[in-house]
Amino acid sequence: MSELLRLNVSQVLEGIRKKEFSAVELTRCYLDRIEKTKVLNMYLEVSADRAIKMAQIADEKYKNNTARLLEGIPIGVKDMFCTESIKTTASSKILENFVPTYESTVSKKLWEEGAINLGKLSCDEFAMGSSNETAAKGNVINPWRSEEKRSPGGSSGGSAAAVASKSALCAIGTDTGGSIRQPAAFCGIVGMKPTYGRCSRWGIIAFASSLDQAGPLTRNISDSATMLKVMAGHDPKDSTSSLENVPNFNDFLDKGVKGLKIGIPKEYDRKGISEEILKSKEKVIDFFKQNGAEIVNVSLPLTKYALSVYYIVAPAEASSNLARYDGVRYGLRVDGDSLDIMYEKTRGVGFGDEVKRRIMIGTYVLSSGYYDAYYLKAQKVRRLIKNEFDEVFKKVNYILTPTTPTTSFKLGSTQDLLTMYLNDVFTVPASLAGIPGISVPVDLDKNGLPIGVQILGKPFDEGGIFQVGKVIEDSANFDLFSEGSYK
Ligand code: GLN
Repeated sequence: MSELLRLNVSQVLEGIRKKEFSAVELTRCYLDRIEKTKVLNMYLEVSADRAIKMAQIADEKYKNNTARLLEGIPIGVKDMFCTESIKTTASSKILENFVPTYESTVSKKLWEEGAINLGKLSCDEFAMGSSNETAAKGNVINPWRSEEKRSPGGSSGGSAAAVASKSALCAIGTDTGGSIRQPAAFCGIVGMKPTYGRCSRWGIIAFASSLDQAGPLTRNISDSATMLKVMAGHDPKDSTSSLENVPNFNDFLDKGVKGLKIGIPKEYDRKGISEEILKSKEKVIDFFKQNGAEIVNVSLPLTKYALSVYYIVAPAEASSNLARYDGVRYGLRVDGDSLDIMYEKTRGVGFGDEVKRRIMIGTYVLSSGYYDAYYLKAQKVRRLIKNEFDEVFKKVNYILTPTTPTTSFKLGSTQDLLTMYLNDVFTVPASLAGIPGISVPVDLDKNGLPIGVQILGKPFDEGGIFQVGKVIEDSANFDLFSEGSYK
């Protein structure tokens, strides 16, 4: 593997600035690497020519001393972000030929700061899933112990695998119930889900609009902080995007955890969670103590309802959002004798099983007579879950939990849907409450598979989350290049 592929964001920026290598050279290295890692099935579309052109512009900027914040950084984009004149499919057959005429706000911000678009990354269809197995073009393979054909997690499985296999320096993903944090944990990288509203949703294919958030997947905390700074900020095109000031997140990284109170919710020690993951969590508690933090036991009793609430709210919003794929306005059309038959055929052929299931659940919980019984109740419990977090954050600064109940499982091994949904049991509560969270890699389990832990914080305190995450990163010393990673 080329040495250039080992560099993180700040090292790359410095290397190009010092003329040790050019942005074009670096981009070529990544494009070669993408070829070599093709068996992992991560990229749905590689925009090689465009990437080289962008890299040439980056090199010019360095020459003129006008380099921007991410000048020359090669990035992979989850296929949920619309990219102008590059096919965008949400990993679905129904959008297999959709080429947007516009660019999502988040990706646009990255290109405007000089980042380079390597291409589009596979995900679960319309981001519905936790294993990347619902992708129309087949699953992605986790780069760790790749011969064992394990899941990279989902739905941002392609994004996490691309960063972990060094086929992108950074990637962007979306997280509705855990889709950045869970794949980051499975692939041994850092995944940040910002506060709801921190990043614009404009131009991102909608799954569940009250939960969807964009965020970075990176090799370390500092890269994540640099990426988020560029991705975040108010956008007049998204009325739910926040006006909150976007600080320089890198300024938080060296502050340590001395004097901070870290809450450990007892409800997250549930049955069925891997012993090794619990051990990693204990190890992180020790890191915190050694660095002067105070550990506080807390309780979030409504956690047990979070998944049930999520699987009412998210499908309800999805069923409404996905109504637009009707064979008229976007993508696939399968003709029929009448308009209704055309709709039915198009949606029947275009959507995969998981998406159809969500549309059916969603339509059911929104239908008259069931709306009050399911949807309204779920919304009330959602508010109570949020209130519960607010109360706990009066006592502690941050919360530590495992990111996932298990490490990566073998592809095709989860037959039972509820077991699959349980993957998100630790990530979903933060999504419902709209609060920020990060997954940071800590260890490898006895099978050599990555383990991550999650830090949750108050709304708009991503800086503090990075600060705490950095202490974990420095103490754990997780090595993305160790035995078992993709060579
Ligand atoms: N796995 C969860 C789901 O299937 C979350 C997905 C996501 O965050 N996009 O809905």
